[in-house]
Amino acid sequence: KCNYSQAAVPKPHDPPQVLYSGIFINNEWYKSKSGSTFETINPATGKVITEIQQGSREDIDVAVDAAYDAFRFGSPWRRMDASERGRLLYKLADLMERDAAYLASLETLDNGKPYHVAYPIDVLGSVKVIRYMAGWADKNHGKTIPMDGEFFCYTRHEPVGVCGQIIPWNFPLLMMAWKIGPALATGNTVVLKPAEQTPLTALYTAELVKEAGFPPGVLNVVPGFGDAGAALVQNTKVDKIAFTGSTEVGKKIQQASGQFNLKRTTLELGGKSPNIILADVDIEKAVEAAHFGVFFNQGQVCCAGTRTFVEDKIYDEFVERSVERAKQRTVGNPFHPDTEQGPQIDETQMNKILSLIEQGTKDGARLVHGGDRHGEEGYYVKPTVFADVEDHHTIAKEEIFGPVQQLMRFKDLDELIDRANNTDYGLASAVFSKDIDKVNYIVQGIKAGTVWVNTYNVLSAQSPFGGFKDSGHGREMGQYGLSQYTEVKTVITSIPQKNS
Ligand code: NAD
Repeated sequence: KCNYSQAAVPKPHDPPQVLYSGIFINNEWYKSKSGSTFETINPATGKVITEIQQGSREDIDVAVDAAYDAFRFGSPWRRMDASERGRLLYKLADLMERDAAYLASLETLDNGKPYHVAYPIDVLGSVKVIRYMAGWADKNHGKTIPMDGEFFCYTRHEPVGVCGQIIPWNFPLLMMAWKIGPALATGNTVVLKPAEQTPLTALYTAELVKEAGFPPGVLNVVPGFGDAGAALVQNTKVDKIAFTGSTEVGKKIQQASGQFNLKRTTLELGGKSPNIILADVDIEKAVEAAHFGVFFNQGQVCCAGTRTFVEDKIYDEFVERSVERAKQRTVGNPFHPDTEQGPQIDETQMNKILSLIEQGTKDGARLVHGGDRHGEEGYYVKPTVFADVEDHHTIAKEEIFGPVQQLMRFKDLDELIDRANNTDYGLASAVFSKDIDKVNYIVQGIKAGTVWVNTYNVLSAQSPFGGFKDSGHGREMGQYGLSQYTEVKTVITSIPQKNS
């Protein structure tokens, strides 16, 4: 089961009022320099929510200048006590918690995810990440090092500088928290570009950053499209890019980050994660976990268990039970408390999912449930289950990013490790079994940044997350996540005489 607080969920604001739609620079709101705006759409209805100021290169450059100035030597932010940076982050977390029902409603409106999920996972989860990082602000120590010779050596963990952060639409607020939490805790300044599909919660949170008391220019938010993201990557005053999104764009970002000044990068990209179910499991629990592993967040999860490998002996029963579970999945209005599944993010994603489903059938996989659009309004796709999926099928190789489960059969453990690793991705994986020896064997064999054992999709502020191979590099969250936002400076001082 999912690792989130079961705190009572308050009533949503339905619909929430949209308060901010501009570009946030130096703690002020601006219109775009070009005069352009773009529409943000409610995916449950396909209707326009509001017009957003569309940032482009000129706006990005102004925001980067603000972040650069806020980071200048001797600036209020650079001179602030680390404990005070922590206090500001705690204050931000408190303000997010104060407005949690509103933020969750805004997320549901803009993204389509069920409100009763957005509240505990996206909003309270973000609060936890910000608090966790706040605690680190004055605890990220360097070392004193017993180096050879008549010298005194110590290291400082200094902020990298101006960080460009580009985030996706599947967990808009949570991805913002993962990015700004460690960056601000370690003393960096930030220009964040939210996804064009989901700018609303990032803009509201920017106002909370101001309310918390962060100095101007420390956090800047520029809504816009890929061209604005690309301008951020090309700006030579930016020291580091943190990106979450598709592998395709991640590769472009990696290239561009080395083209001008050499930017540090952390990339969290796509996945096609194996979820391995051995025959000795409690089948009811494993079916539920595998279902959650794929269908959570409308299937729009980078670490989703989209290749479910089930041992031959229980395969047929597993397929039958998975279909029964998918049939029960409630799809509908994301503000309704009984809804498990809302719409996909937009029409493009819906059509991409539907065409991959068609390809699955063409390739010879057996469609056992769903397979088409749900209703005519909004961008809903029926929970879909494929059985008899084979490794060479397109749906076993490509990220679908939708509510589509692939059930694959295996007989032999050795063959299974090779099959599970037969992908360019390496983000997550899971194994379900009561046999500790088999579990350990698989844990060591899988090439992925996370292996869950007898659970799925469990993440926390304390535990690092990130990918092997084409799923990206660097880790976010936990103590490991901090190192991605600091440079280590070695200071060596000559001393008259060294004594042990
Ligand atoms: P995307 O990678 O195109 O967009 C993610 C972010 O990158 C957005 O903010 C976007 O504006 C920005 N961007 C786009 N082009 C850019 C460029 N050239 N330079 C800099 N920034 C750029 O993702 P998408 O098109 O919204 O979704 C496509 C696919 O990506 C999905 O089907 C899914 O497979 C994958 N995806 C993965 C994640 C994840 O969490 N890893 C999240 C969203 C989407």
